[in-house]
Amino acid sequence: MAIESINLETCDGCNICIDSCPADVLRLVDNVQDTGFDTWKVIIAYPNECHSCSLCEMDCPVDAIKVEKTMMIPTPFQSHDGYKYLTFRKGGVKAEKMAEAR
Ligand code: SF4
Ligand code: SF4
Repeated sequence: MAIESINLETCDGCNICIDSCPADVLRLVDNVQDTGFDTWKVIIAYPNECHSCSLCEMDCPVDAIKVEKTMMIPTPFQSHDGYKYLTFRKGGVKAEKMAEAR
């Protein structure tokens, strides 16, 4: 999963992250069983669709979302020697093999 955490204490259910997400990963729910809250909160509905673009994190007005800084390279662009992830580090971007990134 690419989202590290969503702080449901600070999330106010504004829907901005859902509008921002290009992969349709997030949903709003008001179900206490899912979140422990009886007000609208965001959940990660389709974690496997997330590609760590960080748009939700950048757009959340209360900084409730934290995203891993590792981006999966879409299959058509993966190299033949198995590099599947880009990890963002100080001073540059490094490609990593799937086994090393996990
Ligand atoms: S943008 Fe932030 S506050 Fe708004 S629903 Fe998403 S996580 Fe919650
Ligand atoms: S990191 Fe990007 S793809 Fe993943 S949930 Fe946030 S906006 Fe959607």
